[in-house]
Amino acid sequence: MKKTIYYGIRNIRVEDVEDIAPRKGEVKVQIKYCGICGSDLHEYLHGPFPESPFGHEACGTIVALGPEVENFKLGDRVCTLVPGAYAETVNCPQDRLLKIPDDMDWKRATVLEPLSGAAYAIDRGHVRPEDTVFIAGAGTVGLMLLMGLKAMGVETVYMTDVLENRRKKAEELGATMTWNPAEIKSPGKIRELTKGRGVDVAIEAVGIESTLKDCLASVRYQGTVIVQGIFTERASVHMLGFVSRETTMIGTNSIKPDLAMQWLATGKIRPESIITDFIGLADIAEKGFEVLAGKSQTAIKIVVEP
Ligand SMILES: [Zn+2]
Repeated sequence: MKKTIYYGIRNIRVEDVEDIAPRKGEVKVQIKYCGICGSDLHEYLHGPFPESPFGHEACGTIVALGPEVENFKLGDRVCTLVPGAYAETVNCPQDRLLKIPDDMDWKRATVLEPLSGAAYAIDRGHVRPEDTVFIAGAGTVGLMLLMGLKAMGVETVYMTDVLENRRKKAEELGATMTWNPAEIKSPGKIRELTKGRGVDVAIEAVGIESTLKDCLASVRYQGTVIVQGIFTERASVHMLGFVSRETTMIGTNSIKPDLAMQWLATGKIRPESIITDFIGLADIAEKGFEVLAGKSQTAIKIVVEP
């Protein structure tokens, strides 16, 4: 079976590995799609995380059952919430499986994991439908947050991104207004848009100092900053504004699939619309990671089809 092996920075190879039978409580899933996550791109460019999530946005069909598997059967369509799925198959413990509803197509199933990350962040930040929100970053993370907010009825969502295609996508998906933060200073713009008050909630969805600063300087008194971007560098922030505005800042890195499912059930959002490319497993480095690393003007979510 073919699997992508991570050797180091900008060094991944698709190799033939032994196809091991699923162990107790595991199932074998034949992978239909695996989305390339921003965190995987980080590992590709900067080195591995302690607990590497490399290749975790996958869905497929159960093709073998290990001993003591309950509630799943051969042929079930599932999302596999484990790493290692840039491969033809992956063995997954049953408690890391999510059954895909019959009426959900594969494309939607493959973005269920990132949507579930947005669901967790929004839930953990106690965002309310009447809040005004600023999202810094319109990649997958930012766009999933936007769709979640739209599903729960949030009206005003401002977004920034340096890439025009991502700003356009954000507008298409319901962002109230977008701008390029390299050209327009976000805190000033938001003060102007909110008559000096600031937004109730700002969400950092990039993972760099400048967008974190934008978020901290854009929230109202006693507002909330949610940080979902993955940082590789340290960030230096001015703490006086943080203290005097009595800001709450929350880090978030888990998933809440049940809330994501509720959002989808509203019929208001199409998270699969952020998928821009499907590529074969053999092309994962060249047409996947390298394209995303080059800050492509067209790609947003690239999905590998093993
Ligand atoms: Zn992910």
